Amino acid sequence: MLHIGCHLSSAKGFAAMGRQAMALGADTFQFFTRNPRGSRAKPLDAADAEALTVLLRENGFAPVIAHAPYTLNLCGQTEENRSFARETMADDLSRMEHIPGQLYNFHPGSHVGQGTEAGIALIAQAMNEILRPEQTTTVLLETMAGKGSEVGGRFEELREILDRVNLSEKMGVCLDTCHVSDAGYDIVGDLDGVLTEFDRVIGLRRLKAIHLNDSKNAPGSRKDRHECIGAGEIGLEALARVVNHPALRSLPFCLETPNELPGYRAEIELMRGLVRE
Ligand code: FE
Ligand code: FE
Ligand code: ZN
Repeated sequence: MLHIGCHLSSAKGFAAMGRQAMALGADTFQFFTRNPRGSRAKPLDAADAEALTVLLRENGFAPVIAHAPYTLNLCGQTEENRSFARETMADDLSRMEHIPGQLYNFHPGSHVGQGTEAGIALIAQAMNEILRPEQTTTVLLETMAGKGSEVGGRFEELREILDRVNLSEKMGVCLDTCHVSDAGYDIVGDLDGVLTEFDRVIGLRRLKAIHLNDSKNAPGSRKDRHECIGAGEIGLEALARVVNHPALRSLPFCLETPNELPGYRAEIELMRGLVRE
C-alpha cells in the first residue's frame, strides 16, 4: 500500500485539509505551519486539530508533514535572525502537539558565508534549545540541493547535525528527490547506490518521509526547481523505482510538484498505478 499525498493549503484549517486529501485519493499530505515567508500564525483551533486527528486515525493515514516556513534560518547571520527562527520553530512544535505523532520538516538553513561547520554548529545548538523530551512530533531535516550556502546538500552534513543533537531520537530526515538529484546524487542511474550511501552515512532508520518531485535541472545542477512527475530530468521510470524500493515503499510520499489540485490528483493516481504489490 503506497502512502502518498501532496502539499495542501492550510487556509481553511486542519480538518479541511484532511477532507481535501481524501478527495484527491491521498492518505498523507503536507502543509505550511504558517505563511511560508514566516509571519505570525493564526490562533490554533483545538477542536479543528482534534477533528483532523480523528480523521487521520479513522482513515488509516500515514503521518502528515508540517513544513516550517522556508525563510526560517537557524544559522542566519545575526542573532536576531536566529532567535526568530528558534522561537517560531518552538511555537510550531508546541502547536503540533494538538495533532500528536506527526512530522515537522524544515530546511536546515543557509550559513550565509559563515561556513558549513559554523552553520552545522548553530543548527544543532538551536535544536538542543527547541526539542522537548515529551514531544510526540518527529522533526525532520530535509535533504537540500546545495544551492548558495545551503547546509544539507551532503548526507554528511545532516549526519553531523544529528550527531550533535542531544534528543536526536526526536529527529529524522526527509529525502527530497529533486533536491538530492540536484545535489549530485544519482537517483536515476543508481538508486541502490544512493540509498546504500544514505544508510552508511545517516542510517536508513532515520529516513521518515520522501518528497517526490521531478526536477527541471540536470543532476548536480544545485538549482532546486521542482517539475511535474515525468516532465523533468529525473523522469517517471526513476520515480517509479523510488516508490517501489523495498527500503522506501512504506514511507509517506509527498508531491511538491508545480500543480493545482487536479494535477495532484492525477499524479497521485499515476503513482498508485505504478506500485508493484
Ligand atoms: Fe522543503
Ligand atoms: Fe521538499
Ligand atoms: Zn525544493
